[in-house]
Amino acid sequence: MALLDLHDSTLFRQQAFIAGTWCNAADGQCIDVDNPATGEIIGSVPACTAEDTQRAVEAARVAQLTWRSKTGTQRAEALATWYQLVMDNVEDLAKIMTTEQGKVLAEARGEVRYAASFLKWYAEEARRSEGSILSTADPARRVLVLKQPIGVTAAITPWNFPLAMITRKCGPAIAAGCSMVIKPSELTPFSALALTVLAERAGLPAGLLSVITGLPAAVGKVLTESPVVRKLTFTGSTGVGKILLEQSAATVKKCSMELGGNAPFLVFDDADVDAAAEGIMQSKFRNAGQTCVCANRVLVQDGIWDRLLLAVMAKVEALQVGAGMEPGSTIGPLINDAAVAKVRAHVEDALSKGARYVGAPLRTEGRFVWPVVLEGVTTDMRVAHEETFGPVLPLFRFKTEEEAVTIANNTPFGLASYFFTNDIRRLWRVGEALEFGMIGHNTGAISMESVPFGGVKESGLGREGGHAGMEEFMETKSLHLGGL
Ligand code: NAD
Repeated sequence: MALLDLHDSTLFRQQAFIAGTWCNAADGQCIDVDNPATGEIIGSVPACTAEDTQRAVEAARVAQLTWRSKTGTQRAEALATWYQLVMDNVEDLAKIMTTEQGKVLAEARGEVRYAASFLKWYAEEARRSEGSILSTADPARRVLVLKQPIGVTAAITPWNFPLAMITRKCGPAIAAGCSMVIKPSELTPFSALALTVLAERAGLPAGLLSVITGLPAAVGKVLTESPVVRKLTFTGSTGVGKILLEQSAATVKKCSMELGGNAPFLVFDDADVDAAAEGIMQSKFRNAGQTCVCANRVLVQDGIWDRLLLAVMAKVEALQVGAGMEPGSTIGPLINDAAVAKVRAHVEDALSKGARYVGAPLRTEGRFVWPVVLEGVTTDMRVAHEETFGPVLPLFRFKTEEEAVTIANNTPFGLASYFFTNDIRRLWRVGEALEFGMIGHNTGAISMESVPFGGVKESGLGREGGHAGMEEFMETKSLHLGGL
C-alpha cells in the first residue's frame, strides 16, 4: 500500500479473518476507513454480517475443543512466537496505527511494544494456571479445585488503543485455553488485521482467533446472544457497555467491562512541582487526550497553584500539533469530526459558565485541536462530569484535602485517579479514600501488563492484566474426592 510505505506490505489486509481464511462479507458490503490527519480513505474492510459472525463463532467452538487439551507449554510457545513476530514488525505496525488512528508515531511504537508485552507475559503465565487441593472438616475427603478454560469468548474493542486493547484480552484467553472472536472498532480495523496476519504466521490453529470487521450492532448482537459464547470482554464507552450487558443477560454470559472514566488528578501543596507538571502532561495529553485514564479534572491546592501553573504552561506551550507521521509532532489529530465538535462544545459550555483560558484560546483545523488550559472550572460544567476526550486541561482550585477528595469522588465513574504529595500520612489517607480502581501516586502512568487494570462503579467489571486478567478466562471447578 503506497500510502503506508510498509516494509512488509502483506501486513495491510482489507479482509476479515474467519475460521482461518481471509474473506469478504457474505453480502460483499464494505466500510471505508480514513486517515484522521488528512481525511483520505486508506482502504476498506468487509462489513461482516450476522451470518459471518455465526461462522466465526462455530469455528471458535470447534478450535477450542482441541486448544483446551494442549499443555500450558504448547500454548506458551504459540504466544511467544506471536510476541516475537510483533516485536520484529514494530515499525510497520506503528505506521498502520498512526495512519488509521492519528496518534504520533513515537506513541504508536510505544503502543505496539505495550501490546506485545501482554503476549509475552501471558505466554509465561500459561505455564502456571494451577488449581489447589483443599482439606475439609471431613477427614475422609479432599477437594481438588480445578482451573479450566471458560470456552469460546468474544472481544469488542475501541479505536483509541487499536492493538493493546486486543492483546490485553486475547493474550490471557489463549493462554487459558480459550478461543476468541474479535470485533475491532470500525474506525481502526487495520491494526487488528495486521496483528492477525502475525497470529497466523505464529501458527495459531484455524478458528482459534477470528477477526470480524463490521457494523457494530449486527455483529455485537450475535456475539452477545449466542449461547456458544461463554464470555464477553468489552472495552469502550459506558453507554455501549450497558447495552452489551443487557444483551448478554439472556445467556448469563460472564462479562468483563472496561468502560469510560473521569479521572481526577490532585496536586497537594507539598508535591514536587516539576514532577506533578510532568505527570499532568503524561496523563492528560497522551494520544491527544483520547485515553480512558487521562486526567479529566486537575485539582490544585491554593499554595502550589502559581508555581504549578507556570510549570504546566511552559510544557503545554512546547507541544507540537501536527500529523502523527511528521517528525516533531507531539499531538496528532482527533479521531473524527464528532470528537472535535465534542471538545468545542465542552469548552464553550465551560466558558459560558465562568471558566477562563490560561494561555491561547481554542483553535481547530480539520481534526487538529491545539491544547487548551481552562481555569475557574466548577463542578456544574460538562468538562467536570463527562469525558472530553481531547487536549483540554480543566483546572480546579481547592483549599483542603477533604474538599479535594469529595470533588474527586463525586462521579459515577471510578477508573483512574492520580495524586501528588510527598506526605506519607496523606499518601495512605488519600490512597484509601479515592474510589477508583487504579490510583497513581506521584506518577501519571499506571498501565502495565503485569498489574490489574480496571474500574469500579460505572467504569466497569473485572480486571485485565496480571494474574487477575487470566482468571477472567477460567472457570473454577471443585472435584470432591471422598472415602479417603
Ligand atoms: P464505543 O463504546 O463507541 O465503541 C467501542 C466498541 O464497541 C467499538 O468496537 C464499537 O464498534 C463497538 N460498538 C459500538 N456500539 C455497539 C453495539 N451496539 N453493539 C456492539 N458493539 C458496539 O467506544 P469508543 O469510542 O470506541 O472508545 C472510547 C471509549 O472507550 C471511551 O469511553 C473510553 O474511556 C473507553 N475506553 C475504556 C478503556 C478501559 O480500559 N476502561 C480503554 C480504552 C477506552
